[in-house]
Amino acid sequence: MKYDRILVWFRNDLRLGDNETLTRAIQQGKKIIPVYCFDSRQFKSTSLGFAKTGAFRAQFLLESVADLRQSFQKIGGDLVILKGNPEQAVPEFAKQLGATAIYFSKEVAAEERQVDKALEENAFSQGIACESFWQSTLYHKDDLPFPIRQTPEVFTQFRKEVEKGCKIRPSFPSPKQISYPGKAVIPDAGELLPLTTYGLEYRKQAQQSWLYVRGGESAAQERLQSYFWEKDLLKNYKQTRNGLIGMDYSSKLSPWLALGCISPRSIYEEVKRYEKERVKNDSTYWLVFELIWRDYFRLIAKKHGIKIFSLGGIRNQQDAWRRDKDLFEAWKSGQTGVPFVDANMRELNATGFMSNRGRQLVASFLVNDLGIDWTWGARYFESLLVDYDVCSNWGNWMYVGGVGNDPRENRYFNILRQASTYDKKGDFVRLWIPELQAISGFDIHQPWELSTATLRNLKIQLGHSYPHALGKIPALEKAY
Ligand SMILES: Cc1cc2nc3c(=O)[nH]c(=O)nc-3n(C[C@H](O)[C@H](O)[C@H](O)COP(=O)(O)OP(=O)(O)OC[C@H]3O[C@@H](n4cnc5c(N)ncnc54)[C@H](O)[C@@H]3O)c2cc1C
Repeated sequence: MKYDRILVWFRNDLRLGDNETLTRAIQQGKKIIPVYCFDSRQFKSTSLGFAKTGAFRAQFLLESVADLRQSFQKIGGDLVILKGNPEQAVPEFAKQLGATAIYFSKEVAAEERQVDKALEENAFSQGIACESFWQSTLYHKDDLPFPIRQTPEVFTQFRKEVEKGCKIRPSFPSPKQISYPGKAVIPDAGELLPLTTYGLEYRKQAQQSWLYVRGGESAAQERLQSYFWEKDLLKNYKQTRNGLIGMDYSSKLSPWLALGCISPRSIYEEVKRYEKERVKNDSTYWLVFELIWRDYFRLIAKKHGIKIFSLGGIRNQQDAWRRDKDLFEAWKSGQTGVPFVDANMRELNATGFMSNRGRQLVASFLVNDLGIDWTWGARYFESLLVDYDVCSNWGNWMYVGGVGNDPRENRYFNILRQASTYDKKGDFVRLWIPELQAISGFDIHQPWELSTATLRNLKIQLGHSYPHALGKIPALEKAY
Protein backbone atom coordinates (compact mmCIF):
# COMPACT_ATOMS: atom_id res chain seq x y z
CA MET A 1 0.00 0.00 0.00
CA LYS A 2 1.25 3.41 -0.95
CA TYR A 3 -0.57 5.40 1.77
CA ASP A 4 -2.21 4.67 5.12
CA ARG A 5 -5.10 7.05 4.62
CA ILE A 6 -6.23 8.60 1.35
CA LEU A 7 -8.83 11.32 1.18
CA VAL A 8 -10.84 11.08 -2.06
CA TRP A 9 -12.27 14.46 -2.94
CA PHE A 10 -15.39 14.09 -5.12
CA ARG A 11 -16.31 16.79 -7.63
CA ASN A 12 -18.06 16.12 -10.94
CA ASP A 13 -17.50 12.39 -10.56
CA LEU A 14 -20.34 11.51 -8.18
CA ARG A 15 -20.37 7.77 -8.75
CA LEU A 16 -18.79 4.50 -7.67
CA GLY A 17 -18.86 2.85 -11.11
CA ASP A 18 -16.10 3.58 -13.62
CA ASN A 19 -14.38 5.91 -11.20
CA GLU A 20 -10.63 5.62 -11.67
CA THR A 21 -9.87 8.10 -8.88
CA LEU A 22 -11.75 5.97 -6.37
CA THR A 23 -10.46 2.68 -7.78
CA ARG A 24 -6.83 3.81 -7.54
CA ALA A 25 -7.36 5.12 -4.01
CA ILE A 26 -8.81 1.77 -2.93
CA GLN A 27 -5.84 -0.02 -4.51
CA GLN A 28 -3.26 2.30 -2.97
CA GLY A 29 -4.62 3.24 0.45
CA LYS A 30 -5.27 1.22 3.62
CA LYS A 31 -8.14 3.49 4.59
CA ILE A 32 -10.26 5.66 2.30
CA ILE A 33 -12.07 8.84 3.27
CA PRO A 34 -14.54 9.99 0.59
CA VAL A 35 -15.36 13.70 0.85
CA TYR A 36 -17.65 16.17 -0.90
CA CYS A 37 -17.19 19.88 -0.25
CA PHE A 38 -19.97 22.39 -0.96
CA ASP A 39 -18.29 25.49 -2.32
CA SER A 40 -20.35 28.56 -1.41
CA ARG A 41 -18.87 30.50 -4.37
CA GLN A 42 -20.89 28.25 -6.67
CA PHE A 43 -24.13 29.61 -5.19
CA LYS A 44 -23.33 33.32 -5.32
CA SER A 45 -25.32 35.80 -7.37
CA THR A 46 -23.81 36.88 -10.70
CA SER A 47 -23.43 40.53 -11.74
CA LEU A 48 -26.46 39.97 -14.01
CA GLY A 49 -28.59 39.40 -10.93
CA PHE A 50 -29.25 35.67 -10.96
CA ALA A 51 -27.64 32.82 -9.05
CA LYS A 52 -24.59 31.11 -10.57
CA THR A 53 -26.19 27.79 -9.63
CA GLY A 54 -29.98 27.96 -9.76
CA ALA A 55 -32.44 25.83 -7.83
CA PHE A 56 -32.87 23.01 -10.39
CA ARG A 57 -29.20 22.17 -10.54
CA ALA A 58 -28.64 22.73 -6.84
CA GLN A 59 -31.47 20.31 -6.05
CA PHE A 60 -30.06 17.76 -8.50
CA LEU A 61 -26.62 18.16 -6.91
CA LEU A 62 -27.97 17.59 -3.39
CA GLU A 63 -29.78 14.46 -4.56
CA SER A 64 -26.64 13.21 -6.30
CA VAL A 65 -24.48 13.73 -3.22
CA ALA A 66 -27.11 12.04 -1.02
CA ASP A 67 -27.19 9.08 -3.40
CA LEU A 68 -23.39 8.80 -3.36
CA ARG A 69 -23.43 8.84 0.43
CA GLN A 70 -25.96 6.00 0.48
CA SER A 71 -23.88 4.01 -1.99
CA PHE A 72 -20.83 4.35 0.27
CA GLN A 73 -22.85 3.38 3.32
CA LYS A 74 -23.96 0.21 1.52
CA ILE A 75 -20.33 -0.88 1.02
CA GLY A 76 -19.16 -0.10 4.54
CA GLY A 77 -18.15 3.54 4.22
CA ASP A 78 -19.61 7.01 4.25
CA LEU A 79 -19.25 10.32 2.45
CA VAL A 80 -18.00 13.20 4.56
CA ILE A 81 -19.70 16.49 3.83
CA LEU A 82 -17.65 19.67 4.13
CA LYS A 83 -18.60 23.28 3.45
CA GLY A 84 -16.24 26.07 2.39
CA ASN A 85 -13.55 26.63 -0.20
CA PRO A 86 -12.31 23.16 -1.13
CA GLU A 87 -8.73 24.37 -1.59
CA GLN A 88 -8.63 25.13 2.14
CA ALA A 89 -11.27 22.85 3.65
CA VAL A 90 -10.12 19.63 1.99
CA PRO A 91 -6.38 19.78 2.91
CA GLU A 92 -7.30 20.96 6.43
CA PHE A 93 -9.60 17.99 6.90
CA ALA A 94 -6.97 15.63 5.47
CA LYS A 95 -4.43 16.99 7.96
CA GLN A 96 -6.87 16.64 10.84
CA LEU A 97 -7.47 12.98 10.00
CA GLY A 98 -3.86 12.16 9.28
CA ALA A 99 -4.48 11.42 5.59
CA THR A 100 -1.22 11.60 3.66
CA ALA A 101 -2.70 11.85 0.19
CA ILE A 102 -5.61 13.53 -1.56
CA TYR A 103 -6.93 11.94 -4.76
CA PHE A 104 -9.26 13.78 -7.11
CA SER A 105 -10.45 13.94 -10.71
CA LYS A 106 -8.98 16.50 -13.05
CA GLU A 107 -11.11 19.33 -14.34
CA VAL A 108 -10.33 21.50 -17.34
CA ALA A 109 -12.04 24.88 -16.93
CA ALA A 110 -10.25 27.90 -15.51
CA GLU A 111 -12.02 28.31 -12.13
CA GLU A 112 -11.78 24.63 -11.35
CA ARG A 113 -8.11 24.51 -12.28
CA GLN A 114 -7.35 27.47 -10.05
CA VAL A 115 -8.97 25.59 -7.19
CA ASP A 116 -6.92 22.46 -8.01
CA LYS A 117 -3.71 24.44 -8.04
CA ALA A 118 -4.40 26.16 -4.74
CA LEU A 119 -5.50 22.88 -3.17
CA GLU A 120 -2.30 21.17 -4.28
CA GLU A 121 -0.18 24.01 -2.92
CA ASN A 122 -1.98 23.94 0.43
CA ALA A 123 -1.72 20.17 0.61
CA PHE A 124 1.98 20.07 -0.31
CA SER A 125 2.81 22.75 2.26
CA GLN A 126 1.38 20.41 4.89
CA GLY A 127 3.22 17.37 3.59
CA ILE A 128 0.17 15.83 1.93
CA ALA A 129 0.59 14.31 -1.54
CA CYS A 130 -1.95 14.92 -4.33
CA GLU A 131 -2.78 12.65 -7.24
CA SER A 132 -5.33 13.55 -9.89
CA PHE A 133 -6.91 11.47 -12.63
CA TRP A 134 -8.43 12.31 -16.00
CA GLN A 135 -11.79 10.68 -16.27
CA SER A 136 -14.74 12.60 -17.63
CA THR A 137 -14.34 11.86 -21.34
CA LEU A 138 -15.02 8.91 -23.61
CA TYR A 139 -11.49 8.99 -25.00
CA HIS A 140 -8.70 9.29 -22.46
CA LYS A 141 -6.53 12.33 -23.06
CA ASP A 142 -3.36 10.22 -23.00
CA ASP A 143 -4.66 8.09 -25.87
CA LEU A 144 -5.41 10.97 -28.24
CA PRO A 145 -3.56 10.88 -31.57
CA PHE A 146 -2.46 14.52 -31.04
CA PRO A 147 -1.33 16.65 -28.09
CA ILE A 148 -4.24 18.61 -26.57
CA ARG A 149 -2.76 21.90 -27.71
CA GLN A 150 -3.14 20.60 -31.28
CA THR A 151 -6.77 19.51 -30.92
CA PRO A 152 -8.33 20.24 -34.33
CA GLU A 153 -10.55 23.32 -34.35
CA VAL A 154 -13.11 21.69 -36.62
CA PHE A 155 -15.25 18.99 -35.04
CA THR A 156 -15.39 16.66 -38.04
CA GLN A 157 -11.62 16.54 -38.27
CA PHE A 158 -11.39 15.92 -34.52
CA ARG A 159 -13.95 13.12 -34.67
CA LYS A 160 -12.33 11.40 -37.64
CA GLU A 161 -8.90 11.51 -36.02
CA VAL A 162 -10.03 10.12 -32.68
CA GLU A 163 -12.23 7.46 -34.24
CA LYS A 164 -9.33 6.32 -36.39
CA GLY A 165 -6.44 6.67 -34.03
CA CYS A 166 -7.76 6.09 -30.55
CA LYS A 167 -9.31 3.24 -28.54
CA ILE A 168 -11.82 3.69 -25.75
CA ARG A 169 -10.50 2.23 -22.51
CA PRO A 170 -12.62 -0.30 -20.60
CA SER A 171 -14.51 1.03 -17.60
CA PHE A 172 -13.62 0.30 -13.97
CA PRO A 173 -16.03 -1.89 -12.00
CA SER A 174 -17.79 -0.47 -8.92
CA PRO A 175 -16.00 -1.34 -5.67
CA LYS A 176 -17.85 -3.92 -3.56
CA GLN A 177 -16.32 -2.81 -0.31
CA ILE A 178 -14.43 0.10 1.13
CA SER A 179 -12.12 0.35 4.10
CA TYR A 180 -13.37 3.47 5.89
CA PRO A 181 -11.79 4.69 9.14
CA GLY A 182 -15.07 4.44 11.07
CA LYS A 183 -16.75 6.39 13.85
CA ALA A 184 -13.75 6.42 16.18
CA VAL A 185 -11.83 8.55 13.68
CA ILE A 186 -14.77 10.37 12.04
CA PRO A 187 -17.56 10.62 14.62
CA ASP A 188 -19.63 12.95 12.46
CA ALA A 189 -19.62 12.76 8.66
CA GLY A 190 -21.52 16.05 8.36
CA GLU A 191 -25.03 16.88 7.42
CA LEU A 192 -26.44 17.42 3.93
CA LEU A 193 -27.96 20.86 4.23
CA PRO A 194 -31.18 21.85 2.46
CA LEU A 195 -31.37 24.20 -0.54
CA THR A 196 -32.34 27.15 1.64
CA THR A 197 -28.80 27.11 3.08
CA TYR A 198 -27.69 28.40 -0.31
CA GLY A 199 -30.45 30.99 -0.53
CA LEU A 200 -32.48 28.85 -2.95
CA GLU A 201 -36.01 27.54 -2.78
CA TYR A 202 -37.07 24.09 -3.92
CA ARG A 203 -38.67 24.51 -7.39
CA LYS A 204 -41.89 22.63 -7.92
CA GLN A 205 -42.11 21.17 -11.41
CA ALA A 206 -44.48 23.00 -13.72
CA GLN A 207 -47.74 21.25 -14.48
CA GLN A 208 -46.81 20.85 -18.17
CA SER A 209 -43.45 19.37 -17.32
CA TRP A 210 -42.60 15.86 -18.32
CA LEU A 211 -39.02 16.06 -17.07
CA TYR A 212 -38.55 14.04 -13.94
CA VAL A 213 -34.90 13.60 -13.17
CA ARG A 214 -33.56 12.67 -9.76
CA GLY A 215 -29.90 13.18 -9.04
CA GLY A 216 -27.49 10.33 -8.40
CA GLU A 217 -25.84 7.28 -9.87
CA SER A 218 -28.80 5.00 -9.11
CA ALA A 219 -31.22 7.22 -11.04
CA ALA A 220 -28.72 7.48 -13.92
CA GLN A 221 -28.59 3.69 -14.14
CA GLU A 222 -32.40 3.53 -14.06
CA ARG A 223 -32.62 6.00 -16.94
CA LEU A 224 -30.10 4.02 -18.97
CA GLN A 225 -32.02 0.84 -18.29
CA SER A 226 -35.31 2.42 -19.23
CA TYR A 227 -34.13 4.26 -22.38
CA PHE A 228 -32.05 1.42 -23.80
CA TRP A 229 -33.68 -1.76 -22.61
CA GLU A 230 -37.19 -1.36 -21.28
CA LYS A 231 -38.50 1.18 -23.79
CA ASP A 232 -36.03 0.09 -26.48
CA LEU A 233 -35.63 3.67 -27.72
CA LEU A 234 -31.97 3.71 -28.68
CA LYS A 235 -32.64 2.08 -32.05
CA ASN A 236 -34.60 5.18 -33.15
CA TYR A 237 -32.49 7.87 -31.47
CA LYS A 238 -31.24 9.47 -34.69
CA GLN A 239 -34.79 9.99 -35.95
CA THR A 240 -36.25 11.23 -32.65
CA ARG A 241 -33.39 13.28 -31.16
CA ASN A 242 -34.63 16.61 -32.54
CA GLY A 243 -37.92 16.30 -30.70
CA LEU A 244 -39.28 18.86 -28.28
CA ILE A 245 -41.86 17.21 -26.07
CA GLY A 246 -41.45 14.37 -23.60
CA MET A 247 -38.79 12.43 -21.81
CA ASP A 248 -38.06 9.98 -24.61
CA TYR A 249 -37.09 11.80 -27.81
CA SER A 250 -33.48 11.84 -26.59
CA SER A 251 -31.57 10.06 -23.85
CA LYS A 252 -31.83 12.83 -21.19
CA LEU A 253 -28.59 11.52 -19.75
CA SER A 254 -27.04 14.99 -19.72
CA PRO A 255 -27.79 16.00 -16.10
CA TRP A 256 -26.13 12.82 -14.83
CA LEU A 257 -23.21 13.12 -17.22
CA ALA A 258 -22.64 16.71 -16.11
CA LEU A 259 -22.17 15.74 -12.46
CA GLY A 260 -20.46 12.50 -13.32
CA CYS A 261 -23.20 10.29 -11.88
CA ILE A 262 -22.54 8.18 -14.96
CA SER A 263 -19.47 8.05 -17.18
CA PRO A 264 -19.54 8.32 -20.99
CA ARG A 265 -17.53 5.09 -21.11
CA SER A 266 -20.20 3.13 -19.31
CA ILE A 267 -22.82 4.52 -21.69
CA TYR A 268 -20.57 3.49 -24.58
CA GLU A 269 -20.25 -0.04 -23.20
CA GLU A 270 -24.03 -0.25 -22.86
CA VAL A 271 -24.39 0.89 -26.50
CA LYS A 272 -22.04 -1.92 -27.54
CA ARG A 273 -24.05 -4.46 -25.53
CA TYR A 274 -27.28 -3.14 -27.09
CA GLU A 275 -25.74 -3.47 -30.56
CA LYS A 276 -24.91 -7.11 -29.82
CA GLU A 277 -28.16 -8.04 -28.16
CA ARG A 278 -30.71 -5.89 -30.02
CA VAL A 279 -29.65 -3.94 -33.07
CA LYS A 280 -26.72 -1.98 -34.47
CA ASN A 281 -27.68 0.94 -36.71
CA ASP A 282 -27.20 4.68 -37.40
CA SER A 283 -29.00 5.54 -34.19
CA THR A 284 -26.79 3.47 -31.91
CA TYR A 285 -23.74 5.09 -33.52
CA TRP A 286 -25.30 8.56 -33.22
CA LEU A 287 -25.46 8.49 -29.45
CA VAL A 288 -21.72 7.81 -29.40
CA PHE A 289 -21.26 10.58 -31.98
CA GLU A 290 -22.93 13.02 -29.56
CA LEU A 291 -20.69 11.86 -26.75
CA ILE A 292 -17.75 12.70 -29.00
CA TRP A 293 -19.12 16.26 -29.25
CA ARG A 294 -19.00 16.33 -25.48
CA ASP A 295 -15.35 15.21 -25.48
CA TYR A 296 -14.56 17.77 -28.13
CA PHE A 297 -15.83 20.73 -26.11
CA ARG A 298 -13.91 19.49 -23.08
CA LEU A 299 -10.66 19.36 -25.03
CA ILE A 300 -11.33 22.72 -26.66
CA ALA A 301 -11.82 24.17 -23.16
CA LYS A 302 -8.55 22.64 -22.03
CA LYS A 303 -6.75 23.87 -25.12
CA HIS A 304 -8.03 27.46 -24.97
CA GLY A 305 -8.35 27.99 -21.21
CA ILE A 306 -9.94 31.27 -20.12
CA LYS A 307 -10.68 32.33 -23.73
CA ILE A 308 -13.84 30.22 -23.88
CA PHE A 309 -15.44 32.65 -21.42
CA SER A 310 -14.24 35.80 -23.11
CA LEU A 311 -16.41 37.92 -25.36
CA GLY A 312 -14.14 37.47 -28.37
CA GLY A 313 -14.06 33.70 -27.78
CA ILE A 314 -11.31 31.63 -29.31
CA ARG A 315 -11.45 33.72 -32.50
CA ASN A 316 -10.72 37.00 -30.67
CA GLN A 317 -13.74 38.64 -32.34
CA GLN A 318 -14.35 42.36 -31.89
CA ASP A 319 -17.04 43.41 -29.42
CA ALA A 320 -20.10 44.30 -31.47
CA TRP A 321 -22.72 43.20 -28.97
CA ARG A 322 -25.54 45.11 -27.37
CA ARG A 323 -26.10 45.10 -23.64
CA ASP A 324 -29.75 46.01 -23.49
CA LYS A 325 -31.19 44.77 -20.21
CA ASP A 326 -34.83 45.08 -21.34
CA LEU A 327 -34.29 42.92 -24.41
CA PHE A 328 -32.35 40.42 -22.34
CA GLU A 329 -35.13 40.32 -19.75
CA ALA A 330 -37.73 39.70 -22.47
CA TRP A 331 -35.64 36.81 -23.81
CA LYS A 332 -35.05 35.35 -20.34
CA SER A 333 -38.68 35.42 -19.35
CA GLY A 334 -40.10 34.10 -22.62
CA GLN A 335 -41.74 37.40 -23.59
CA THR A 336 -40.10 38.22 -26.91
CA GLY A 337 -43.34 37.86 -28.84
CA VAL A 338 -41.77 35.11 -30.96
CA PRO A 339 -43.71 32.02 -29.85
CA PHE A 340 -41.12 29.33 -30.67
CA VAL A 341 -38.42 31.22 -28.76
CA ASP A 342 -40.72 32.04 -25.84
CA ALA A 343 -42.00 28.48 -25.51
CA ASN A 344 -38.45 27.17 -25.22
CA MET A 345 -37.43 29.81 -22.69
CA ARG A 346 -40.51 29.16 -20.60
CA GLU A 347 -39.73 25.47 -20.64
CA LEU A 348 -36.22 26.22 -19.40
CA ASN A 349 -37.54 28.49 -16.64
CA ALA A 350 -40.11 25.95 -15.53
CA THR A 351 -38.04 22.76 -15.71
CA GLY A 352 -34.32 23.54 -15.93
CA PHE A 353 -34.18 21.72 -19.27
CA MET A 354 -34.47 22.56 -22.96
CA SER A 355 -34.01 20.33 -25.99
CA ASN A 356 -30.87 20.69 -28.10
CA ARG A 357 -32.98 22.10 -30.94
CA GLY A 358 -34.45 24.69 -28.58
CA ARG A 359 -31.04 25.68 -27.20
CA GLN A 360 -29.68 26.37 -30.65
CA LEU A 361 -32.71 28.34 -31.62
CA VAL A 362 -32.96 30.59 -28.55
CA ALA A 363 -29.20 31.16 -28.53
CA SER A 364 -29.25 32.15 -32.19
CA PHE A 365 -32.22 34.47 -31.56
CA LEU A 366 -30.44 36.19 -28.68
CA VAL A 367 -27.20 36.80 -30.53
CA ASN A 368 -28.34 37.16 -34.15
CA ASP A 369 -31.81 38.70 -33.91
CA LEU A 370 -31.42 40.73 -30.73
CA GLY A 371 -27.66 41.25 -31.04
CA ILE A 372 -27.16 40.71 -27.29
CA ASP A 373 -23.80 39.78 -25.75
CA TRP A 374 -23.61 35.99 -26.10
CA THR A 375 -21.91 35.62 -22.69
CA TRP A 376 -25.11 36.89 -21.03
CA GLY A 377 -27.02 34.02 -22.60
CA ALA A 378 -24.36 31.54 -21.56
CA ARG A 379 -24.48 32.81 -17.99
CA TYR A 380 -28.25 32.53 -17.86
CA PHE A 381 -28.04 28.94 -19.11
CA GLU A 382 -25.38 28.27 -16.48
CA SER A 383 -27.80 29.33 -13.78
CA LEU A 384 -30.86 27.53 -15.10
CA LEU A 385 -29.77 24.31 -16.78
CA VAL A 386 -30.06 21.19 -14.66
CA ASP A 387 -27.43 19.64 -16.96
CA TYR A 388 -25.05 22.62 -16.98
CA ASP A 389 -21.60 21.50 -18.01
CA VAL A 390 -19.03 24.25 -18.20
CA CYS A 391 -17.37 23.01 -21.39
CA SER A 392 -20.51 21.98 -23.29
CA ASN A 393 -22.34 25.15 -22.37
CA TRP A 394 -19.64 27.69 -23.16
CA GLY A 395 -18.41 25.72 -26.17
CA ASN A 396 -21.89 25.55 -27.70
CA TRP A 397 -22.57 29.21 -26.94
CA MET A 398 -19.30 30.25 -28.57
CA TYR A 399 -20.28 28.14 -31.55
CA VAL A 400 -23.69 29.79 -31.96
CA GLY A 401 -22.24 33.21 -31.13
CA GLY A 402 -19.82 32.89 -34.04
CA VAL A 403 -16.75 33.19 -31.82
CA GLY A 404 -16.02 29.47 -31.50
CA ASN A 405 -15.35 26.40 -33.58
CA ASP A 406 -18.00 26.66 -36.25
CA PRO A 407 -16.29 26.85 -39.63
CA ARG A 408 -19.40 28.52 -41.12
CA GLU A 409 -19.49 32.29 -40.93
CA ASN A 410 -23.15 32.85 -40.14
CA ARG A 411 -25.04 30.39 -38.02
CA TYR A 412 -28.44 32.04 -38.25
CA PHE A 413 -31.47 29.95 -37.39
CA ASN A 414 -34.54 30.94 -39.35
CA ILE A 415 -37.21 30.64 -36.70
CA LEU A 416 -40.24 29.96 -38.83
CA ARG A 417 -38.40 27.44 -40.93
CA GLN A 418 -37.27 25.69 -37.75
CA ALA A 419 -40.84 25.82 -36.48
CA SER A 420 -42.23 24.34 -39.68
CA THR A 421 -39.74 21.48 -39.49
CA TYR A 422 -39.85 20.69 -35.80
CA ASP A 423 -43.23 21.91 -34.53
CA LYS A 424 -45.44 21.93 -37.59
CA LYS A 425 -48.72 21.74 -35.72
CA GLY A 426 -47.60 24.12 -33.00
CA ASP A 427 -48.11 21.61 -30.18
CA PHE A 428 -44.92 22.59 -28.39
CA VAL A 429 -45.83 26.27 -28.40
CA ARG A 430 -49.38 25.45 -27.31
CA LEU A 431 -47.97 23.56 -24.33
CA TRP A 432 -45.96 26.48 -23.00
CA ILE A 433 -47.85 29.58 -24.13
CA PRO A 434 -51.40 29.36 -22.83
CA GLU A 435 -52.15 32.92 -24.06
CA LEU A 436 -51.97 31.62 -27.64
CA GLN A 437 -53.59 28.22 -27.12
CA ALA A 438 -56.71 29.17 -29.06
CA ILE A 439 -54.75 29.54 -32.32
CA SER A 440 -54.85 26.29 -34.22
CA GLY A 441 -52.15 24.62 -36.30
CA PHE A 442 -48.99 26.34 -37.51
CA ASP A 443 -50.56 29.82 -37.20
CA ILE A 444 -49.62 29.80 -33.52
CA HIS A 445 -46.01 30.42 -34.62
CA GLN A 446 -46.87 33.69 -36.33
CA PRO A 447 -49.78 35.38 -34.58
CA TRP A 448 -48.78 38.66 -36.27
CA GLU A 449 -49.98 37.18 -39.57
CA LEU A 450 -53.56 36.82 -38.28
CA SER A 451 -56.08 39.58 -38.92
CA THR A 452 -57.20 41.80 -36.06
CA ALA A 453 -60.69 40.33 -36.36
CA THR A 454 -59.43 36.76 -36.07
CA LEU A 455 -57.28 37.65 -33.09
CA ARG A 456 -60.21 39.48 -31.48
CA ASN A 457 -62.42 36.40 -31.92
CA LEU A 458 -59.75 34.32 -30.20
CA LYS A 459 -59.51 36.92 -27.40
CA ILE A 460 -55.87 37.63 -28.18
CA GLN A 461 -54.61 41.17 -28.24
CA LEU A 462 -51.01 41.48 -29.40
CA GLY A 463 -49.17 43.95 -27.25
CA HIS A 464 -51.46 43.10 -24.30
CA SER A 465 -52.25 39.43 -23.79
CA TYR A 466 -49.06 38.48 -25.68
CA PRO A 467 -46.19 40.81 -26.73
CA HIS A 468 -45.50 42.13 -30.20
CA ALA A 469 -42.51 40.35 -31.73
CA LEU A 470 -39.11 41.83 -30.94
CA GLY A 471 -36.93 41.96 -33.99
CA LYS A 472 -37.87 41.34 -37.57
CA ILE A 473 -38.80 37.72 -38.16
CA PRO A 474 -38.17 36.59 -41.76
CA ALA A 475 -41.36 35.28 -43.34
CA LEU A 476 -41.64 31.56 -43.95
CA GLU A 477 -41.55 31.74 -47.79
CA LYS A 478 -38.21 33.52 -47.69
CA ALA A 479 -36.77 30.74 -45.61
CA TYR A 480 -36.80 28.31 -48.52
C1 LIG B 1 -26.40 26.95 -26.45
C2 LIG B 1 -26.25 25.52 -25.97
C3 LIG B 1 -25.88 25.25 -24.66
C4 LIG B 1 -25.72 23.93 -24.22
N1 LIG B 1 -25.37 23.70 -22.91
C5 LIG B 1 -25.16 22.43 -22.49
C6 LIG B 1 -24.78 22.15 -21.14
O1 LIG B 1 -24.58 23.05 -20.33
N2 LIG B 1 -24.63 20.85 -20.78
C7 LIG B 1 -24.81 19.82 -21.66
O2 LIG B 1 -24.66 18.66 -21.29
N3 LIG B 1 -25.12 20.06 -22.94
C8 LIG B 1 -25.32 21.31 -23.39
N4 LIG B 1 -25.69 21.53 -24.69
C9 LIG B 1 -25.73 20.39 -25.62
C10 LIG B 1 -27.07 19.65 -25.78
O3 LIG B 1 -28.10 20.56 -26.01
C11 LIG B 1 -27.41 18.78 -24.57
O4 LIG B 1 -26.31 17.97 -24.24
C12 LIG B 1 -28.60 17.86 -24.85
O5 LIG B 1 -29.71 18.62 -25.22
C13 LIG B 1 -28.90 17.06 -23.61
O6 LIG B 1 -30.00 16.21 -23.80
P1 LIG B 1 -29.81 14.63 -23.91
O7 LIG B 1 -28.99 14.13 -22.78
O8 LIG B 1 -31.14 14.04 -24.08
O9 LIG B 1 -28.96 14.53 -25.23
P2 LIG B 1 -28.79 13.33 -26.28
O10 LIG B 1 -29.24 13.84 -27.58
O11 LIG B 1 -29.39 12.09 -25.78
O12 LIG B 1 -27.20 13.18 -26.36
C14 LIG B 1 -26.46 12.31 -25.50
C15 LIG B 1 -25.36 13.08 -24.80
O13 LIG B 1 -24.44 13.59 -25.76
C16 LIG B 1 -23.91 14.84 -25.31
N5 LIG B 1 -24.26 15.90 -26.27
C17 LIG B 1 -25.28 15.93 -27.15
N6 LIG B 1 -25.22 17.06 -27.89
C18 LIG B 1 -24.17 17.75 -27.46
C19 LIG B 1 -23.57 19.00 -27.81
N7 LIG B 1 -24.08 19.78 -28.79
N8 LIG B 1 -22.49 19.42 -27.13
C20 LIG B 1 -21.95 18.68 -26.16
N9 LIG B 1 -22.45 17.49 -25.77
C21 LIG B 1 -23.54 17.03 -26.41
C22 LIG B 1 -24.59 15.13 -23.98
O14 LIG B 1 -23.74 14.72 -22.94
C23 LIG B 1 -25.86 14.29 -24.04
O15 LIG B 1 -26.35 13.92 -22.77
C24 LIG B 1 -25.88 22.86 -25.14
C25 LIG B 1 -26.26 23.14 -26.46
C26 LIG B 1 -26.44 24.44 -26.87
C27 LIG B 1 -26.84 24.71 -28.31
